[in-house]
Amino acid sequence: MNISKFVELGKKIVCVGRNYAEHATELGNKVPTEPLLFLKPTTAYLSEGNKIKMPPGCTDLHHEVELGVVIGTKGTDIPVESAMDHVGGYALALDMTARNLQDAAKKKGHPWTLAKAFDTSCPVSKFVEKERVQNVHNVRLWLSVNGDIRQDGNTSDMIFKVPTLISYISRSMTLEPGDMILTGTPSGVGPVKSGDVIVAGLDQLMEMSFSVAE
Ligand code: MG
Repeated sequence: MNISKFVELGKKIVCVGRNYAEHATELGNKVPTEPLLFLKPTTAYLSEGNKIKMPPGCTDLHHEVELGVVIGTKGTDIPVESAMDHVGGYALALDMTARNLQDAAKKKGHPWTLAKAFDTSCPVSKFVEKERVQNVHNVRLWLSVNGDIRQDGNTSDMIFKVPTLISYISRSMTLEPGDMILTGTPSGVGPVKSGDVIVAGLDQLMEMSFSVAE
């Protein structure tokens, strides 16, 4: 499989919630003691040049900039020690979130599906070759809205590191080539509205731009 075509060929997007302590607390959540996981379907992917849409019932659409890890080789029960061998590359992604729907779901103890998995909820960059990222735990992630910086973090602040996430996820779900793990967002999440332009970057490696549909 050509891993750079992960958007077309990948089977799942496994997302990690609250993986940066400052972000967990900015939403009034406790810092987790084990990874918090949810899924997006691959129909959530949005490539550059297309617009982010408000899902039904959304009154508070939030941006979350995240490092995406693209799986290169299949594995189940992957040990932490060899987990990085399963990484095929990276991407920059947004975990767009209908925060009002998520808050309502949290109150009821319901899943976050409608808040997190809607069409266009995963704007994504082009593939970043694995070799271009020298240390995955020292990468700057930033995001601006209409030119104002809103998020500026570093993957060094992840609570659960990439090998731990790969190992933990693969205990329950076989990871396959083209699957993507969204590794969580640093602090600074906030709302966007129709017509806003989001620009996000991953160190000097990647920059991408998406606008919110009118
Ligand atoms: Mg997120």
